[in-house]
Parts: sequence; structure tokens; C-alpha cells
Amino acid sequence: MKTAYDVVIIGGGIGGLMCAYQLKRLKPSLDILLLEKGQDIEKRTCPIVTKKTRTCLKCQPCAIMEGMAGAGAFSDGKYIISTEYGGWLPDLFDSDLVYQYILRADEILMSFGADKEVYRPSARLRYECLKHDLHMQSAKVKHLGTDANFKTMQKMINDLKTKIEILTLARMQDVDIKTHEVTFTRANETYKVKADAIVLALGRAGALDFKKWAEKNKLELSNNQVDIGVRVELPYEIWEPFSKEIYEPKIKYSTKQYHDVVRMFCFNERGQVVSENTNGVLTVNGHAYKDENKKSQNSNFALLSTTNFTSPFNEPIEYAKSVASLANQISGGSVIVQRLGDLRNGRRTDEKRLKESSVRPTLNAIAGDLSLCMPKRQLDNIIETLDALSLVAPGTNNYDTLLYGVECKYYSARPKAKEFELDNTDNIYALGDGAGFTRSLSQAAASGLMVAEKIVYGEIANLSDRR
Ligand SMILES: Cc1cc2nc3c(=O)[nH]c(=O)nc-3n(C[C@H](O)[C@H](O)[C@H](O)COP(=O)(O)OP(=O)(O)OC[C@H]3O[C@@H](n4cnc5c(N)ncnc54)[C@H](O)[C@@H]3O)c2cc1C
Repeated sequence: MKTAYDVVIIGGGIGGLMCAYQLKRLKPSLDILLLEKGQDIEKRTCPIVTKKTRTCLKCQPCAIMEGMAGAGAFSDGKYIISTEYGGWLPDLFDSDLVYQYILRADEILMSFGADKEVYRPSARLRYECLKHDLHMQSAKVKHLGTDANFKTMQKMINDLKTKIEILTLARMQDVDIKTHEVTFTRANETYKVKADAIVLALGRAGALDFKKWAEKNKLELSNNQVDIGVRVELPYEIWEPFSKEIYEPKIKYSTKQYHDVVRMFCFNERGQVVSENTNGVLTVNGHAYKDENKKSQNSNFALLSTTNFTSPFNEPIEYAKSVASLANQISGGSVIVQRLGDLRNGRRTDEKRLKESSVRPTLNAIAGDLSLCMPKRQLDNIIETLDALSLVAPGTNNYDTLLYGVECKYYSARPKAKEFELDNTDNIYALGDGAGFTRSLSQAAASGLMVAEKIVYGEIANLSDRR
């Protein structure tokens, strides 16, 4: 390791990796160091996924959220080829410009073996939903699959290892915005390196650290949204008419009781429900393998109710963590699974009732009662939306539909920045999910490419002008 670099990138998720890749492509002479607090990609194994334990052991680092390839390593690899959702880049840049960068990132992933097949939106299904006040978002999407996505990222990382220096198990502790000194720890040792340009690509696992660091440096932050809800699991046949045609139905519904927005997204056909550890709190998520042998008989999706807090409350992440922690507490350090019918009837799903369920759970969660930990408002919203979704996919609100809790998506506080360069700093950038700019693989990847352009050319321009 040297003491000074042209660029130090912190975070080895898709945003940081794309940034490194593009920097080297645009200017091969650049000396780049990438720091990642988690393990290298091949060494990432979660004891829950390998069924060694039912409860989260709070491993440090967490193999699901942290490590080379970031939170996306075990993701389903749904790559959204659209600016319609997946983050807030279109609020900051022209949509067409963002779209170009999403396409460029896709080209790069394809060069490392990612799938070429694209699912297109269906006007017919969109209309079917509209009839019931359900608003289906229509974007082109690719489904790489958890296994194929992992291999693609592995190839990309192996390629980068020949071009830049990568240190895993290296946790950034501080970045001095005046001296450009990066302090990090590795195997109980503290190191300091300097760089002309510094890129913070910390993802959701680094969101709280980023917030604290920004506050310490008096950088202005905003964002007060949180999405809380459940992971829904049901027989795959129920949503097959949608998944066959468009792969991923993403539907928004405004509840009649509270006028809150509830989003159905992150759909995994014949997939698995998984738990994930975010900053010590266990939540749920889902994924699906491309390999026919690894497919389950169930599909799953996230159903989350959006809350935008108003003054004086401004701690949405802490709020979501409290709700999820309560679920962890009452399930003895795990996540809860409950049948929809039991929830409606105000009774706990216990192990016996779960065994009677016609839907076999794919996650080894604790049978319990979500109404003991989730706020009434969010639960009412979830139940109302399941009833509405049943109008286009009958069976969605069956008694045995499984609800896992808590799933939450919280968005990092967004710093004031110009083209990702943080206000009141020189050549220090933040990108991706960790800085609250994105919430998807495609937009996080696009933000990585954009920051590389900004570092090399001083501006983020139309890609066709660069060819
Ligand atoms: C289970 C799961 C499934 C998902 N499925 C999809 C999907 O199908 N499609 C989709 O579009 N999105 C999906 N997502 C979201 C997607 O993974 C993220 O939007 C994307 O990974 C964000 O990229 P990023 O580079 O900003 O951050 P991340 O991928 O989170 O990477 C950030 C990296 O920074 C590291 N880091 C944090 N702090 C430090 C520090 N102090 N020092 C050093 N390193 C640090 C972390 O360990 C992490 O590896 C999924 C997420 C999960 C968890």
C-alpha cells in the first residue's frame, strides 16, 4: 500500500466498482485504492443462508450487506432499465442523461457476462391494474438471477484486481475534508492514506456512518422518508400471469383509510425469503435463483407503506430500526412470520398453525404476531393493499399467505452536492444508496459512472459526446 493515491474509493458495492472501472477506462494512468469493510466476494457466507443457525449471529462484517459487490452480491439482480423508479437521480439530472448512464452500466455488466434478455412493460396488465386504482409502473427490466448476478460481479471484481489496489476488511473511520486524509482500520491496525479525489460509496450498511461523518463536518443533509412493511410469500401460480409477461410487477396503491402510498416491489418469482442484518437489526428481503433446480414453489414480494415525517421528527432511520428491533426482540433475535388469516383474526401464528399452512415458508423465521410490533397504521395499509392486489391476482389475500416482518427500506440522508461533489469540499464525492441518491443496482451503478466522469472531465456530460 502506498501513502498517496489519485483516487480513494470507499465501498466495494456496484457504485464504487463502476466508478473504479470507469476511472481506469477513461484514464488508465490513475492510481486507485478501493477500501471495503467486508470480505472478498468468494468469502461471503451467511450462517442463516447456509442454515447453520436460525437467528442472526450479528457477524461482523455482515456477509449479506457488506463485502465486495456490496448489498447487491446476493440480490436477485433485477436491473431496471428505466429512470421511472430505483432512485432520485432524475431529480438531479435530466432523465435522458441518467438513462444513458444506466444503459452504459448495463453494457459493462454484459461485458462481464450479464444476461441480455429484457422484460418489457405490458399495457394490457397496466390497464387491468388501473381498473382497480392500482398503479403499475412500467419499466424495462432484466433479471440476472442471484447466481448469475454473483458470477458477473465476481468477474468484474477479478478484472478490477488487475488494475487497481483493493483492500478488504478495511473500514474507513474518517475522511478529513481539508487534508484529504483517509483514516481506516484493518486487523486492529490504523492506517492513513491521502488522495486527490475521494469517493464515498458506502451503501445502506454505511448510511449511519455517513450521516454521522457529514454532521461532524457540518455538511447539510436532508431526507425524512421511510418505508415499512412486510415480505409477502405465496404460491407462485398466483402472480404467474404477471411474472410470465413482465417478470416484475411493481405496483403503487394509495390506501383509502389513510391515503398513504403502499408499494409492491422487489418481486421474486419462485424465490426465497431471506433475512438481512442492517447495522445490527435483522430485517427481511427476497431473491430468486435463475437455476431451475434452486427455484421454490413460492413467489415473494415486498409490500411497504411510505411515511414522510414532518417537523419536529427527523430520525426516520432510527424509527425504522426501532420497529424492526421490536420484531427481533419478540422473536428471540429473529424475524417473524405470520399467516394473513391469523393476523386478520387477531391471533398469533404458532409453529403448529404454521405447519398447517398450505404455503411452506422458504425462510426459517419464528411464527409469531406482527401486530405486537408493527404500528397499526402500517398494518392496516398492508392488509388493505393485499385485498386490492387480490382483485388483479386472486388469491393474494388467501388465509395462508405468509407475511414476514419487518421489512423496511430507509434512505440515507442526502447531502447537498453539485454533481455528487459535496458542498464545502473539494474533490470529495458521495454516490449510490449510502448518500440517499439511489435505491437500486442500476441507478447506483449509473452514479458510479457519473462520478468517474466528473473526476476525469470536471463535469457529467452526455455520453454520446464522449464517444
Ligand atoms: C437482499 C437484497 C436484494 C436486492 N435486490 C435488488 C434487485 O434485485 N435490484 C435492484 O436494483 N436492487 C436490489 N437491491 C438493492 C441494491 O443492492 C442496492 O441498491 C445497491 O447495491 C446499492 O449500491 P451501492 O454501491 O450504493 O451500495 P452497496 O451495494 O450497499 O455497497 C456499499 C459497500 O460499502 C461498504 N462500506 C460501508 N461503509 C464502509 C466503510 N466505513 N468502510 C469501508 N467500506 C464500507 C459496505 O460494506 C458495502 O459493501 C437489493 C438489496 C438487497 C440487500
